[in-house]
Amino acid sequence: MVSRVIPVDPFDLVIFGGTGDLARRKILPGLYRRFLDGQMPPEARVIGAARSEMDEDGYRDFVRAAIEEFVDARRRDPERIEAFLERLGYVAIDARGTGGWQELRDRMRAGVVRAFYFSVAPALFGDLAERLHGFGIADGDSRLVVEKPFGHDLASARALNTTLAAHFNEAQIYRIDHYLGKETVQNLMAVRFANILFEPLWNAQYVDHVQITVAETVGVDGRGSYYDQSGAMRDMVQNHLMQLLCLIAMEPPNRFDPDAVRDEKLKVIRALDPVAPEDIVRGQYGAVGGQPGYREDVGNSDSRTESYVALRVHVSNWRWKGTPFYLRTGKRLRARSSEIAITFREPPHSIFGEDERWKENVLVIRLQPNEGIKLRVMIKEPGPGGMRLVNVPLDMSFAEALGEGGTDIPDAYERLIMDVIRGNQTLFMRGDEVEAAWAWTDPVIAEWVDAGSRPVSYDPGTSGPEDALMLMHRDGRRWREITP
Ligand code: NAP
Repeated sequence: MVSRVIPVDPFDLVIFGGTGDLARRKILPGLYRRFLDGQMPPEARVIGAARSEMDEDGYRDFVRAAIEEFVDARRRDPERIEAFLERLGYVAIDARGTGGWQELRDRMRAGVVRAFYFSVAPALFGDLAERLHGFGIADGDSRLVVEKPFGHDLASARALNTTLAAHFNEAQIYRIDHYLGKETVQNLMAVRFANILFEPLWNAQYVDHVQITVAETVGVDGRGSYYDQSGAMRDMVQNHLMQLLCLIAMEPPNRFDPDAVRDEKLKVIRALDPVAPEDIVRGQYGAVGGQPGYREDVGNSDSRTESYVALRVHVSNWRWKGTPFYLRTGKRLRARSSEIAITFREPPHSIFGEDERWKENVLVIRLQPNEGIKLRVMIKEPGPGGMRLVNVPLDMSFAEALGEGGTDIPDAYERLIMDVIRGNQTLFMRGDEVEAAWAWTDPVIAEWVDAGSRPVSYDPGTSGPEDALMLMHRDGRRWREITP
């Protein structure tokens, strides 16, 4: 099955921070792939903007190199790359100055969608919004794409919302969480709400527990000074893991519409119990075999910032009372693996006798690598020898199930950028959602700051701290293996 590509309306997309790491690795290669798939209409234009002085040819060289480095060789066609580069422009601009803004204004065309991607440090978001408004570049239909982190805590997120709201309304603001752009994450909604099979079981009566894991093998990767001020709770849990939790726990929205979906997610965040200190494990990777540990990586010999966190979370509502959600995320772990696993309860009675060890039905939604959905079920072991049971996966790997079209699943960023052009905010966080997430996260962090808590050390290449195992063992449960 080859995927259907629906072209979007003509647009002018300005990427502030168009020479930065995110633009180079994700945004520009993603736009090239959308162009290749015929999704960018001939009138679409992309304008890079940053302080570096560069002419348009210089910028095209920069983008050509980014495509060479970050687009799969099978999709690099020199002629198509040149055709894509013709749609690019560049304006040297300072978010905090006045130079370049008039030129940018002159470049914008009437009658096309205007989108402004803020791929710069969050401290510049307010300056950009102000100038876009002040120079008359953005109109009432223009869209802003805002990168993470959206604030550092509730107060800063509120301040940022207020700054943006001074010049733009909520319907114009697209707060990106690239986890929501992943194919499998959207598939989670399709699986839940387009089938009758799961929803009747999707509650505390039938779900024993839920595990959400986002494991990375990388360390702080040159982002040490940012990360040491942030830590896993702010950098991953407050946004990505909570968004995933919301999509699992939310009630069915009455339609697949931005506000209907986001209203339901917000209710989940508001239903989260405060986390008890004994339900949290914080870890920091140590130095092993000559490899630097976290503290060396961030250049802070007394850092108390966590590079790993595991939590037991309760959603206090009728649907979920009694089903714990276990969340964990960390750096320098055994494998790069992100997944959601929903473990169902035991059948009430076994007709097969005590010898036949029952194993759980588990629905595993794998986000990376190898996006796909797997359901573990019990079947009869094939062959003679009586009725012996075995637990096997019913597997739906997208690459295999969707054939040719499935092998090239669009990257989350390219999908989300196309949603911005379409004006669809469903997969973007609303301002009140972000604030509610911080309102839940802040007291957790405040508690361990007040207590002067130090993260426990764990060895790189493992599943994280031993204490995290205990978080589940004491409930008679086990974490799933972290496997690539
Ligand atoms: P980066 O590599 O440091 O790039 C920053 C960009 O902003 C550069 O193009 C820089 O170009 C430009 N810039 C800096 N000061 C400016 C100013 N005063 N006026 C105009 N442009 C200015 O940062 P990044 O990693 O791409 O990250 C960009 C944003 O995405 C950040 O908010 C980050 O938190 C977020 N993000 C990044 C990643 C990632 O993988 N990189 C992942 C998630 C979120 P000049 O120096 O030439 O001005």
